[in-house]
Amino acid sequence: MTVRVASEWLNSCSGCEISIIDLGERLLDLLKLVDFVHIPALMDSKYLGQKGDGKHISLPDADVGLISGGIRNAEHLEVAEEMRKKCKIIIALGTCATHGGIPALCNSYSNNEILERYYSTETTDKPDAFPSEGLPELEERCFALDEKINVDLHLPGCPPHPDQIFSALVALLEGKPPVLPSKSVCDTCPTIREGKGQLKKLRRFLQEPVCNPDEPLDQMRCLLEQGVLCMGPVTKAGCGGDQRIPRCISARVPCRGCYGPVRQDGNQMTDMLNALASNGVDVDSLSEYPSLLRFSGAHGRLRPPRKEA
Ligand code: SF4
Ligand code: SF4
Ligand code: SF4
Repeated sequence: MTVRVASEWLNSCSGCEISIIDLGERLLDLLKLVDFVHIPALMDSKYLGQKGDGKHISLPDADVGLISGGIRNAEHLEVAEEMRKKCKIIIALGTCATHGGIPALCNSYSNNEILERYYSTETTDKPDAFPSEGLPELEERCFALDEKINVDLHLPGCPPHPDQIFSALVALLEGKPPVLPSKSVCDTCPTIREGKGQLKKLRRFLQEPVCNPDEPLDQMRCLLEQGVLCMGPVTKAGCGGDQRIPRCISARVPCRGCYGPVRQDGNQMTDMLNALASNGVDVDSLSEYPSLLRFSGAHGRLRPPRKEA
């Protein structure tokens, strides 16, 4: 029996779809078992009809629906609702879908502030002319998928590692619940840790850590203990795929938090501030806090600052 899979992208950069394509030869194996009934990244299928002249969004029935991107406008919402209606299982694919991702940084500003910044400055050709014709209406902010529709499985990552997409799809094909990492990036990091209380002050992000690129990673001191702000303690593991070594750490740069919080409902900003404070770090040495939510600003975590009355 083949499993019907549909895929759609909403407020997305398409990097998550590239991760599906990065399955490489395994995609050919999957294609023997999976029937992709709708996947704009791989084949020409349009939700408003092949000529784009349909009046309503319509998608085929599927067993599994993969949705990347959060919800930022009325069209995203309509597509998400149609996917929910037509797919038995919905997978939120990538951190934009699970937690808003980078696009949810816009949640620190009102829609008007954003439109004014981009379309009403002296550098635009037609100041004050906000584009509107033929465009879907903006939602009031960027939403994660589960704020608008029921989601069965969250597969975070910016983008998710192809190994994880493969394992999740194979588990679903076998009728088993996919097993996803429940630990943090630190739990899969091989660097040397000397323990709490090693760090008092954070360094500027651009200051390079002390490491010898010719030495194996298990001889490098933990970047956070070196004073580099590494989000490993509060970020979900999995970016190393089957190899397990976190991707950024293997390049000797700190984790920026792209897999979102360890628990789906976690808050990377408060979790990180707590982790720093419990290690005796002066959190005032952080230049600003909201960037700790650079991948997880949906669910009301990032908001425009309150205006003084
Ligand atoms: S999670 Fe990352 S790769 Fe996926 S759509 Fe969002 S920005 Fe792109
Ligand atoms: S803080 Fe960063 S460098 Fe240190 S153990 Fe965690 S992931 Fe590794
Ligand atoms: S180390 Fe952190 S930022 Fe880098 S890929 Fe992994 S989760 Fe993302």
